[in-house]
Amino acid sequence: MVRYYRELTRLEMEAVDKEETVVLIPIGALEQHGNQCPLGTDEIISEAVARRIRETLDREIPDYPMLIFPPVPVGLSTEHVNFCGSITLKPDTFYHVLEDICRGLFRHGFKKIAMLNCHGGNTPIIQVLSRELRSELGLAVFMINCGVFFGNQAVKDTVTPGNVWDFHGGEMETSMILAERPELVKMETAQAGIPRKFMGNRSLTVYGPITLGWVSEEWETEDGTPIGIGGDPRGATAEKGEQIYQSFVGSIVDGLKEIRRWKDQ
Ligand SMILES: [Zn+2]
Repeated sequence: MVRYYRELTRLEMEAVDKEETVVLIPIGALEQHGNQCPLGTDEIISEAVARRIRETLDREIPDYPMLIFPPVPVGLSTEHVNFCGSITLKPDTFYHVLEDICRGLFRHGFKKIAMLNCHGGNTPIIQVLSRELRSELGLAVFMINCGVFFGNQAVKDTVTPGNVWDFHGGEMETSMILAERPELVKMETAQAGIPRKFMGNRSLTVYGPITLGWVSEEWETEDGTPIGIGGDPRGATAEKGEQIYQSFVGSIVDGLKEIRRWKDQ
């Protein structure tokens, strides 16, 4: 059974099987997503994915033991802070926020935590924390990175051909917000972004073998104005967004079955 952590009473929490239950922690960010999408895009997506995971498990594996933790709304968004409205935690603050949550869960007996991370900039901190907690406490902190599914078939099938730079604030994320909160998307303001300084390079690329800690001003419009997004959101639709959610959730549920089978003893 999948339930929301904050909705349980103390007595209900005492009765939870802490050995088997997976605590799913949605993690977002509060940062610019181009002209057209809300600052809370990643948090909204993280909640939307978590809700669809619940719906799928309720339908297919109703005895799956899971608690969905309240979403973490702010993450590590250093690359976006020069755009209005973006808020970041410092790397060590973000690390310790997540560490304190995990240690709290461990104190109450939980053994399996799954971080549902929906902002790529958060990933390195979560990786370091996962290994530290595994080494020190034996805690299993599984990492579910929405970004890893960006290359999946549903994204390839839905994103407009030629929209090769699509990732942050592009067609995919805009479609996902259109499917969830269409009233928050201002499509009439949408513009495309490309990493002009990297284009034409073979080795020094955005995510290539040689890169740098780029900031989102590196993503520009055709005329060289910093826009801070990757890709062209103008082909986004709610239908594409729903297709992408269903595909992500299918992959994640496959992984959750394996997480359930994972045994430390
Ligand atoms: Zn995002």
